[in-house]
Amino acid sequence: MTNQQSMVIRGARLIEGAADILIRGDTIAEIGKPGMPAPGEAKTMDARGKLLHPGLVNAHMHGHGNLGKGMGDRWTLELLLTAGPWITGNRSIEDKYLTTLIGAAEMVMKGCTACYDLTVEFPTPSVEGLEAAGRAYREVGMRAVLAPMVADRTLYEAIPGLMDALPVALQKEVERLRLAPWQTTLENMRRALHGWKFDRGEVRPAVAPTIPLHCSDEFMVGCAQLAREYAAGLHTHVAESKVQVVSGLKRYGKTLTAHLDALGLLGPDFTAAHGVWLDDDDMRRLGGHGASVAHNPGSNMRLGSGLADMRRMLERGVNVGIGTDGANCADNLNMYEAMRLASFVSKVQGPDWQQWITTREVLEAATAGSARALGFGDRIGRLAPGCKADMVFLDLQHINWIPLNDPTNALVHVEDGSAVHSVMVGGAMVLENRRLVNLDLAKLARDAENARERLERLNRDNKALYEKLEPLVGTFCPGLAKAPLHIQRYGASHY
Ligand SMILES: [Zn+2]
Repeated sequence: MTNQQSMVIRGARLIEGAADILIRGDTIAEIGKPGMPAPGEAKTMDARGKLLHPGLVNAHMHGHGNLGKGMGDRWTLELLLTAGPWITGNRSIEDKYLTTLIGAAEMVMKGCTACYDLTVEFPTPSVEGLEAAGRAYREVGMRAVLAPMVADRTLYEAIPGLMDALPVALQKEVERLRLAPWQTTLENMRRALHGWKFDRGEVRPAVAPTIPLHCSDEFMVGCAQLAREYAAGLHTHVAESKVQVVSGLKRYGKTLTAHLDALGLLGPDFTAAHGVWLDDDDMRRLGGHGASVAHNPGSNMRLGSGLADMRRMLERGVNVGIGTDGANCADNLNMYEAMRLASFVSKVQGPDWQQWITTREVLEAATAGSARALGFGDRIGRLAPGCKADMVFLDLQHINWIPLNDPTNALVHVEDGSAVHSVMVGGAMVLENRRLVNLDLAKLARDAENARERLERLNRDNKALYEKLEPLVGTFCPGLAKAPLHIQRYGASHY
């Protein structure tokens, strides 16, 4: 928003207590006592009966996953990757726009105002595909970091021994899944970054070499150089599953994080997704470089990846943000649920309750922590003068808030998104009285159903291929994960 119109929100309750908020343009100008003076031209918004909290920031999700919502059940990460061509194949530019739009709508309706989207296009990203995704976020009115998620090796090339474990006929079939050469992908990303069409305060670019094992070293170094050249973020899935950790040790002779460190990828603009299987040294490296981890407890449980240890990460100086992960593996994009799970996952790490993550720490991670991971710095994720006016209005008459005891505990442990009444991004309402301001949900439903039906038809062969691969990948990978590892943690010990 560029205009400098003023607005004063009166009668609201903040987490800290009753307060009025003066907004100038898209920014919070002042937070003061109820009844504080405001400029004569300022419009007044009545927020009596509402609890205001900073817009939640989703540190890790996948826009392409939304058309695949609810498609799978018993998937490990490796089976999800095997299913990729089936659930994400044959997408048109319009589909890429639509799938992003579905996620943006869901996130806003559930109190999220910014996200880090790792979006995939097969066999390589395109300027048009990224523009379509960016357009979807702007249309709904939320902020996003948009990262083409890229690789130059398929799963079968990435996991040592997996290709050889397939019968020759299937080896031939997975050949057709081969990705573009990394030079082509790098060039396409360069074109997208060079002519970036969006205001970086609203939709920022980033680069996401998806998983270290799936990217050659030359490619990853190229991604890091590109990100630095264009002041873009860098985001990679790191130590998400035990299969990755075992494969990483085999391929690199060191941990995935140590390998990324040696390649020069770690830095304050680097975000590692998941980090379920990080050891102390990995966490120290990440913390030492000022890097972030996007903690996605829902996805980690859904895919059976394990339980990440947020307390140890914080102790070693890692900036922790919280994410939902994609709708094809989580499956909702509900940041309230992600916060609740982040709290619970910490509490099953062991009986020493003083090590458990507090609700305050969870909320901090899901707002300011995620905001830092996204590269928006401290301009979002807080309600304070100088910050963007991104905030959620919760209905205190909703059953979730009856009675209102400790607001932080209730936000993390009680709220599930159903009390979200209105959402503001940059001083403009994007959800008002539970209705999206800029989007017709009925039309979205029709468009999504048409796309779903068409894609189901187009991806019939890819589904058949998945069904042939499932028993093989589903046997080989768990076998690999049987190797003992020296990471002793309550949550990980039974793996
Ligand atoms: Zn992910």
